[in-house]
Amino acid sequence: MAADDSASCMARAHDVLRQRFGYASFRAGQDLLVEQLLQGRDCLGVMPTGAGKSLCYQVPALVLEGLTVVISPLISLMKDQVDALRSNGVEADCLNSSLAPAERSAVLRRVAEGRCRILYVAPERLGTPEFSRLVAQAPVALVAVDEAHCISHWGHDFRPSYGDIPRFIDGLDPRPAVGAYTATATQRVRADIERLLELRAPFVLVTGFDRANLHFAVERPRDRPAALLAFVQGHREESGIVYCATRRAVEEVCEALCSAGLAATRYHAGLGEEERRANQDDFLYDRKAVMVATNAFGMGIDKSNVGYVVHYHMPQNLESYYQEAGRAGRDGSPATCLLLYGPADVQTNTYLITHSEEREGGDADPVAREERINNDLALLRQMTFYATTNDCLRGFILRYFGEAAPVSCGDCSNCLTAFEDLDMTIEAQKAVSCVFRLRERGRSVGKALITDILRGSRNRRILEQGLDTLTTYGIMADCSTSRLRALLDVLIEKGHLDLTETEYPVVRINERSRALFAPDASFTVKLPKEKPPSERGGRDGRGEKDGPEGLASAPPRARRTADGAPSDWEADIDPQLFERLRTLRTRLASEAGMPAYIVFTNAALREMAARKPRTPEELLQVSGVGATKLERYGADFLACIQEHLAR
Ligand code: ADP
Ligand code: MG
Repeated sequence: MAADDSASCMARAHDVLRQRFGYASFRAGQDLLVEQLLQGRDCLGVMPTGAGKSLCYQVPALVLEGLTVVISPLISLMKDQVDALRSNGVEADCLNSSLAPAERSAVLRRVAEGRCRILYVAPERLGTPEFSRLVAQAPVALVAVDEAHCISHWGHDFRPSYGDIPRFIDGLDPRPAVGAYTATATQRVRADIERLLELRAPFVLVTGFDRANLHFAVERPRDRPAALLAFVQGHREESGIVYCATRRAVEEVCEALCSAGLAATRYHAGLGEEERRANQDDFLYDRKAVMVATNAFGMGIDKSNVGYVVHYHMPQNLESYYQEAGRAGRDGSPATCLLLYGPADVQTNTYLITHSEEREGGDADPVAREERINNDLALLRQMTFYATTNDCLRGFILRYFGEAAPVSCGDCSNCLTAFEDLDMTIEAQKAVSCVFRLRERGRSVGKALITDILRGSRNRRILEQGLDTLTTYGIMADCSTSRLRALLDVLIEKGHLDLTETEYPVVRINERSRALFAPDASFTVKLPKEKPPSERGGRDGRGEKDGPEGLASAPPRARRTADGAPSDWEADIDPQLFERLRTLRTRLASEAGMPAYIVFTNAALREMAARKPRTPEELLQVSGVGATKLERYGADFLACIQEHLAR
């Protein structure tokens, strides 16, 4: 495709994004994946849950002529995906075993007549004669494979039927571009997707895995049920998911929440299909605020207004954890991901891994089985490190997924508990004086030696060089080595001292050093909090202390949205207006028989409650309001805002 064709395709893609979906711009990575797919190139998009993978194929589907086939593993959720698209005025349908014959023929007719742009199918459908006839009639412009990791044995959601996809694609003439999407980042799974789906020289894009609006927390409560109850009670206004390791735990936890008067429902593979569907709907439609579930629940759940995900037990690996936790805050609103950890979780998971049954189509061969078990145990070790680390949780996750991360995000439970702001003016003056005194003797030394001098160490180097006769020798004996090192780092970072870029870097005075001695000088440093000696040695001590109260009253944090920085309107949200808009949304959604978040996301309502649009044009500026939604709901929402302002 020529460059100007590509530019005009992208211009159309932006129009679709704005007019259909009501979004002003693509998120990082989406534009590249859209562009490559539109140029006819196979793509593999690896993005975290909630990052917006769907738009990467939905937008091209609407730019290209012809049908887009979306292969997705979960039948029970296709209807909601289709509803969401239709609410944006997109002609979409799904084909799966849950359709009644009449519905099925209606869908087939629409597809054959070119009145369907996006068709969701379960992989099991692909090989059927009915489907082959259908795609022979309707030219397929694009094939999208959602949750593409399901094709890999090494993923955590292996589905044998995904193996049928390449044959289906081969049968299409001409072969359309194929887009594959997953949140699973391990190299092994990625390689499997490329190979097993037979992607042709795909454009592979791995976006950043950070989800800035998610607040990560790990707690180790003495009393798990009480901790959970306190947390859920503290988040009554929100909808949330509680993941448990076993069906029995799901039953118990759900029961406990219900008896405490909370609106909870449950989901696990032991329940009948009808009940699962009903409970899932209760949750999606906000009739029940809390879903207590095993990991059988959630893949493909696009409910955007999930305010928290609590793991009542530790899952087996960080891929699963991040995927499940990532179901919180999809619409970009601030949300919490809490892991309740107990050491028994490790034993339980080890048992489950080593006693797991052979996987279907998988490791009948004992060597392969052993390899898989070792692989799973290694993943479990990493998960356990996450649960027990004292370091930044967000940083831990990002590094696990192969990304660089700052030492502290300042927002997770570790960063919030482990750091304190200290006035270290005097300490800073002492440290800088030491560098001055050394210079008077014509010496420049490294950070380690400065630390030793200030702490009054009697090591050989100091004594041999007579550094114990410096006036600054031993003046910071009461400061720990790690804190002193950290102080020097901050002094260098803030430019009060220089560090040479030589093989053995040495510390030097600079023109900003003297500023610290001004009468009004003040030097505050954010440093890791030092625990009293009795509490040192891991988070265990701290966890034991933390009662359930600690969980419910998490420290207030800056509201962070999906794009990291707080939005400029965030502070202007009128809570009463938000409630009115929410009530209106509930009414419209129930009249239409749709989940509330399909009408508008919480993020869109919050923006409305802050910007208070008065005209259709102003309403269109709100992220998530496109042409169709404006037409359907605009008048109602504008009237509601008017009424509120006129009160
Ligand atoms: P994923 O499949 O990657 O888990 P989804 O496709 O379900 O994520 O998208 C998550 C949410 O992000 C949805 O509510 C979607 O509408 C929203 N979203 C996606 N792309 C954008 C964008 N460019 N601007 C604003 N919101 C977006
Ligand atoms: Mg998705």
